[in-house]
Amino acid sequence: MLYDATVIGGGQSGLATAYYLRKSGVNYVVLDDQPAPGGAWRHAWPSMTLFSTSGFSNLPGWPMPYHEGFPPARHVVEYLTAYEQRYNIPVERPVHVDSVIRDDGAFHVRAGGRTWTARTIVAATGTWSAPFVPYYPGTFTGRQWHSAYYPGPEPFRGSTVAVVGGANSGAQIAAELTSVADVTWYTRGEPRWMPDDVDGRVLFRRNRDRAIAVARGEADPGTDSSLGDIVALPTVREARDSGRLKATPMFASLSNVTTAHLIWCTGFRPALGPVRSVLHEPGVFLVGYGDRVGPGAATITGVGPYAKRAAEGVVTATR
Ligand code: FAD
Repeated sequence: MLYDATVIGGGQSGLATAYYLRKSGVNYVVLDDQPAPGGAWRHAWPSMTLFSTSGFSNLPGWPMPYHEGFPPARHVVEYLTAYEQRYNIPVERPVHVDSVIRDDGAFHVRAGGRTWTARTIVAATGTWSAPFVPYYPGTFTGRQWHSAYYPGPEPFRGSTVAVVGGANSGAQIAAELTSVADVTWYTRGEPRWMPDDVDGRVLFRRNRDRAIAVARGEADPGTDSSLGDIVALPTVREARDSGRLKATPMFASLSNVTTAHLIWCTGFRPALGPVRSVLHEPGVFLVGYGDRVGPGAATITGVGPYAKRAAEGVVTATR
């Protein structure tokens, strides 16, 4: 069967794109390597919450159901599950795409022994499967983790932990661990706290203004960096204000880190491996991934316009 589009990745970006594809009447399939809906949110640590309220976390078409305060990751998983069912999105899972090649005027999407053939490709593979760890010289003799696989505080109880990273995940994980372990929180500069009465909504507004400017062909106004980066969620604020959460300047060598554990909260890279060889071919569209695609593209509320643009690209390419 020849599809008009194969969407690779069934997280929020893939689903939002499917929402628009479905409205446009093209035939498509979504391939996702997880056993169930939810994308990266299935891998969030147990205490992780959004940094904005449910009213600011809407995919196109259907708002996120209300949740008091900052919703936990499982609320997002439930939302994505219901969204997929509501719009009857054809997701095949678990299907891990190994590669995409272009041959004979079509794209051939390979996963294990199976192949899907399509006229266009939407890459929506996210970033969680490509955790990034910066290089530092020296040797660390304890156990290393990445925030992508942080399991919650229990394995660290009574131990010594180095947490690396001065953004939201580093602050949240370090704050949580301060109540069960001896924590050293390494950051490259002074942590840049957002004002306590400001939450993630301000980041989304910033992103929206940037996206509108870029869409109009104006210069990207950039982020308002004076406002800070770290959302002072209640648990984080409490750890900071009580003095438990204090930043330490970044180490120069891993050999200087003598804790039992080291948790890298140093971000992710786009998981574009399977589509690398066709990335610049006409008919390949990227959704999600953050600034590589556009301001706010890797947020729930911000992905809609990019999903719509990709779906329109598919329609134009297959008309
Ligand atoms: P994903 O959710 O990662 O979905 C991609 C899917 O594709 C996954 O199921 C993946 O397993 C699958 N996949 C990958 N490779 C393949 C392959 N080769 N074959 C088949 N399937 C594949 N956003 C907000 O809006 N609000 C917040 O408060 C917020 N907080 C965040 C906090 C943290 C700590 C982090 C890390 C992110 C946060 N985000 C937040 C950002 C954002 O919403 C997520 O990163 C989001 O999950 C991106 O969605 P996605 O669909 O692009 O990617």
